[in-house]
Amino acid sequence: MTSVCLRGAAQVLRPPEVGLPFLRHDRAAELTLEPGDVVLDGGRIEGFSGGAADVQVDASGCAVLPGFVDCHTHLPFAGWRAEEYERKVTGVPYDEIARAGGGIASSARSFAEASDADVLAQAEALARELLAHGTTAFEGKTGYGLSRDGEARAARLGRELAARVVQPMRVTGLFAHAVPPGFTADAWMDEAEALARDCDVDALDIFVESFAFGNEHLARMGAIARDTGRALRAHVEQLATHRSVPVALEWGARSVDHLSLMHLDDVAPLAAAECAAVLLPGAELMNAEHAPPARTLADAGAIGVLATDFNPGTSPIASMPVIAGLAVRRYGWSVREALLAATLNAAWVLGWSDELGSLEPGKRADVLLLDGPAGHVPYRFGHNPVAAVFAAGEPVWVRPDQAWRVRQT
Ligand SMILES: [Zn+2]
Repeated sequence: MTSVCLRGAAQVLRPPEVGLPFLRHDRAAELTLEPGDVVLDGGRIEGFSGGAADVQVDASGCAVLPGFVDCHTHLPFAGWRAEEYERKVTGVPYDEIARAGGGIASSARSFAEASDADVLAQAEALARELLAHGTTAFEGKTGYGLSRDGEARAARLGRELAARVVQPMRVTGLFAHAVPPGFTADAWMDEAEALARDCDVDALDIFVESFAFGNEHLARMGAIARDTGRALRAHVEQLATHRSVPVALEWGARSVDHLSLMHLDDVAPLAAAECAAVLLPGAELMNAEHAPPARTLADAGAIGVLATDFNPGTSPIASMPVIAGLAVRRYGWSVREALLAATLNAAWVLGWSDELGSLEPGKRADVLLLDGPAGHVPYRFGHNPVAAVFAAGEPVWVRPDQAWRVRQT
């Protein structure tokens, strides 16, 4: 185990108290960005006053942050859908794209045709790309299997991916993603329930939309999650308003994700609940969706979270700094609000906020050194500000032009 001292940082992002499971967004301004040192030892954060260490890091002029936690991706997937993206932006209607075999069906075909080795090779390379952009823990979902066997395979490959990547990874069973050919939504829910009971996954998820599943299916998934002791996640209010938020809250959902068209009457109950609002500005941009009432949610004290929604259809974006930049611009969020949403609160969604997600003594030493102040994360939009990444205290990625900062002693 390496000991590391990040010395003389211009800013160290820390929560206002130790041991917070999450911090509601009306308190985001209490996060501190003071100058200081950060010491890592034995894979853990030891403290905030420098001394002798195996690795000395010159953090002058830079911010030190906890690693980003991407709590909503669709890894592992196979292939991409760039041609479809071009058709979409040049005005081809979605139903025409879908009739031509595009959409989720296209990703499902690629997934079925790819070998296990090919799926894992692509996903492993993408996990390294996430790491280089500062993501030190993430979640992935099933959902491109679209058959009983395919979804069971997706869950198994998710676990195999988790065993291969540097980052801790959660696997979510999005067994109710699209209604497979030959099924009604009701009939597919029987299959989804069997998958949920049989497969080794950490959480359950469902896509509620007019052409996918309804609120009654969300309630059924909630009952399955409760019965099997899994967290409930839900894709809701992305393309239309279905009033799914109250249903998700009734079933104790850990998060409601997307929320682009959530009803404003649901803001206060969501903000008061122990349920995260997971906002996905990458999907909103790339899929030309509405922006959710993010400013209102933050002011009302919601547990705000940002994630990439990394997937080959609606959000082929791997970079959490880009997502933070979009949130600050589109939502009117402060830098602290965006960083809170990308770290501690995201860790809480994955049930990991006692272990990672903030710089506190004893937590896992997942730490980022940036190449400038924290405000550059959203401001230098499109630039990757991550100079070095420490995962469980080990330097796992150092940007070549910043290597002079990291010195073995
Ligand atoms: Zn998603």
